[in-house]
Amino acid sequence: MNRQNPNYDGEYGQQTAQEDMKGVQRKLTELFGNMDHDIPLLLFTDQTINSQYNDAMRAFIRAIREVSDRVSLREYDHNHELAQQYNINHFPTLLFDPDHISIRWLGAPVGEEGRTFVEALILLGYGKSGISNPSRNILEKITTPRTVKLFVSPTCPYCPQQAANALKAAIARPELISLEIIDIQANPDLAEQYNAFSVPVCYANDVMIAKGAQQEELFMASLEKLEQQNVFIPESDAEQVDTDLTIIGGGPSGLTAGIYAARSGLKAVIIERGALGGQVALTPVVENYPGFAQIGGKPLVDIMVSHALEYVPIFPDEEVMEIKKNQPFEILTNRRRYTARAILLATGASYRHLGVPGEERLSGNGVSYCSTCDGALFKGKEVIVVGGGDSALTDALYLANNDVRVTIVHRRNTFRAQDHLVSQLQKFNVQVIFDTEVQEIRGDKRVKEVILRNNITGEERTISVDGVFVAIGYEPAVELAHRTGLALDEDGFIKVDDHHRTSIPGIYAAGDVEGGYKQIVTAAGQGSGAAITIFEDLVNPYWITKEKKA
Ligand code: NAP
Repeated sequence: MNRQNPNYDGEYGQQTAQEDMKGVQRKLTELFGNMDHDIPLLLFTDQTINSQYNDAMRAFIRAIREVSDRVSLREYDHNHELAQQYNINHFPTLLFDPDHISIRWLGAPVGEEGRTFVEALILLGYGKSGISNPSRNILEKITTPRTVKLFVSPTCPYCPQQAANALKAAIARPELISLEIIDIQANPDLAEQYNAFSVPVCYANDVMIAKGAQQEELFMASLEKLEQQNVFIPESDAEQVDTDLTIIGGGPSGLTAGIYAARSGLKAVIIERGALGGQVALTPVVENYPGFAQIGGKPLVDIMVSHALEYVPIFPDEEVMEIKKNQPFEILTNRRRYTARAILLATGASYRHLGVPGEERLSGNGVSYCSTCDGALFKGKEVIVVGGGDSALTDALYLANNDVRVTIVHRRNTFRAQDHLVSQLQKFNVQVIFDTEVQEIRGDKRVKEVILRNNITGEERTISVDGVFVAIGYEPAVELAHRTGLALDEDGFIKVDDHHRTSIPGIYAAGDVEGGYKQIVTAAGQGSGAAITIFEDLVNPYWITKEKKA
């Protein structure tokens, strides 16, 4: 409390209050008086429902209209034909300039939501989305419609920030993005339907994309990817990047190598063509990474990526097309050119496919390789998980835990998965069919049934399923290595010596692509080992030392 100020401690008089009000009005006039776009508002009310929200909405709009004639209001009763035309079934609902954008407010700007309402009017009144250039670049990647539902409440101080993000997106891409801001107190049925009891929570196309308030770019990225993003990596428009070490692959191995290389003083970068974190990002739960008794694969990846970004630039969504074996090496991607004194291939592995009829055709329509990505779509449905390793059992348990009815189909009669996972199957009511392989996956537009064959008796049977989760291991991603002329071992992994050196001096490999235990912790260990070797080799190149000795 400021004891120097006489207006405190009970001396806040009528005159001061009037002066304050004048100040507020001046501010409002400043904010709204110069708007150069009209904002037609359409309010739909039902006098028998939420009347206090109707009153609050009218009062708020009246106050704005006192300082700006750009805002107009037309009010309609719930049974007016326009309510049907705009598909309005919750009251009050306010439409902002419905001829040009698709933003509706279910509730009223009470409490904290007043800030959001003011933000909406200012953005619309000045005809600007106000988004940053990185946000704009992300939104430009969106090519299909997004129906955004943002749940807020009057007592949530974090909601206005997330609402501002959503408003900016809807204003920047009105042709594809529609937005509903939903007050959970005025609309308890919707809150119940979407399980939105902790706000802000945001859904796009009925997929939960964000819990809590986000930085603007992270919101845009979550909206684009239809999945919550926790790390924002700014895009680079450089045409050439000169490095000591170019790391290809942004899984645990590449990320760890980046941290170690940068800490050794090397100028390193990481290039990743797909999802950062590789397979870990798709692993539902990780229980064996030291320091984390239990953590989701994606949150673990986010932590690793944030950590790596403190040391090394990451270039996501970029594919290496060619490695030129000059000195320095040249790495050509679909975006730019890199030069490097050394290269680390940490390209990981990709899903193994069953190779049975129907698998490819129905991939994405019931056939899935990622339980965390697609599991929610199978709630209450019947699926099989194919495989008998850690992946198959982790996936089966994850799905069962999310109300999916799961049967594991395994080709032998013993699992190779850890006992800890096997012992939980019964508890989660996961059925198992041993000694059996999938012969065919059938369905017209979506998976309907699978044909199974018993490997002992040869007997075939058909079972009805809604989904097939394939979890039968991974193939090392060695196309680039193969094209570059690196030697592979008899199992198809990149051939390396004890120091991660490949058959070409200056090129190294680490992680699942060089074989070994294929654990997150071993991949990280291989990455650190490779980075240390690379640092030592660049200081004292073994190929030159070897030549000199010869
Ligand atoms: P994996 O250990 O190689 O197991 C693959 C499973 O799929 C095996 O049971 C195999 O059967 C079966 N399989 C292979 N090809 C098949 C085919 N064409 N048709 C039917 N079944 C087939 O692979 P993973 O489970 O994906 O694990 C890969 C590595 O990641 C492992 O080292 C694993 O420990 C690790 N991982 C660890 C965790 C964790 O620690 N949380 C989670 C996931 C993965 P057979 O048994 O008959 O060969």
